[in-house]
Amino acid sequence: MKTVTLKPGREKLPLLRHPWIYANAVDSHDNDIAPGEIVRVVTGKDGFIAYGSFNKNSQIIVRLMEWDAAKTVDESWISEKLRASCARRSNLASVTDAVRLVHAESDLLPGLIIDRYNDMVTVGFHTAGMNRFRGIIIRELTDLYTPEGIYERVDTHAAKAEGLTLEEKTLFGTVKETEITEHGKKYSVDVVTGQKTGFYIDQRDNRHIVAEYVSGDVFDGFCYTGGFTVHAAPHATSVTSVDSSGDALDRMRINCEKNGCTGNVSAIEADVFDYLRKSAEDGKMFDTIILDPPKLAPTRQAAPKALRAYKDMHLFAMKCLKPNGILASFSCSGGVPRDDFRTTIAWGAKDAKRDVQVLRVLSQAEDHPVRLSFPEAEYLKGFICRVI
Ligand code: SAH
Repeated sequence: MKTVTLKPGREKLPLLRHPWIYANAVDSHDNDIAPGEIVRVVTGKDGFIAYGSFNKNSQIIVRLMEWDAAKTVDESWISEKLRASCARRSNLASVTDAVRLVHAESDLLPGLIIDRYNDMVTVGFHTAGMNRFRGIIIRELTDLYTPEGIYERVDTHAAKAEGLTLEEKTLFGTVKETEITEHGKKYSVDVVTGQKTGFYIDQRDNRHIVAEYVSGDVFDGFCYTGGFTVHAAPHATSVTSVDSSGDALDRMRINCEKNGCTGNVSAIEADVFDYLRKSAEDGKMFDTIILDPPKLAPTRQAAPKALRAYKDMHLFAMKCLKPNGILASFSCSGGVPRDDFRTTIAWGAKDAKRDVQVLRVLSQAEDHPVRLSFPEAEYLKGFICRVI
């Protein structure tokens, strides 16, 4: 097996089981290591740290996978880790049939994203290492779930960072639209054309929780296919659901029909920022505002611009909120830490001359776990606030 030797002092995080070795932490490595090949990472004094997959085309040159020197990272190791990850989700069966089965580094399988939507499964192989294990991963998934179809989804940002050229395609069976159930609500999901891998399953519990705070006239900004709308509608007088994607709104109409809530929901194709700004000018007021924008800052570098956008969004929203109205606001930007996002609510409140009480602090669903040695996996932040 080929060896990668770290520079002195750069072993601290990997010894704490952080999975990423940056190229600038490497002192030397053997020649001719193929992309995705499993290597042994050692310290200068030849101390074993871990095994991981190598990729010279990435800033993250090794993704660590196994810290026990006696183990071998091969197909049966992948099978074992995959099955263990799936088994950890078994408690969700009573809540939903749309589950993230593998959340990459958090489940010790770097770059691997697997979502199950009832009889459909999506897989993302976003590292050179995982790409080598496609065959066994697909075989295990067909064996575990006997799905109708398995579809490969590609996060182009992640693939590019790894220097990988990947293509979205059917990997097994017949891929078609499906129906999922989440906290008793039904949703239509298309794993081929849908955003992300089809549905935002990371918001599963937040949709259920936010519904407890909903009343009166509700605004669901960035509604996509109606995840929050469908949960909110039974508690609301009206729901105004806005998204810039006409396709998403078409599917939301289907989802409202499935859940018997077409009566009080209006689907509007518009830019949420523009719509809220105009509503504020027109004096249109809501009792509850839900805001779940797309990733405005994928990286730390993009954060300053994203913070200004979040601030504007919160300012416009508060101008349209009745006294003591509820604001449920989310950020899925990995580049914006939770405290910074909360600060943008405070900035909006200052300019809107409102006081804000934080009622609930929310995060991503438990099938998107954050391993303590890899805090980078935390990306979804949410606050339910009362705006006095
Ligand atoms: N709340 C949704 C997920 C939202 S994802 C759920 O629970 O399923 C973000 C959504 O924002 C996407 O549907 C995207 O089409 C939409 N979007 C992106 N930019 C927008 C903008 N400026 N105005 C309105 N919608 C936008």
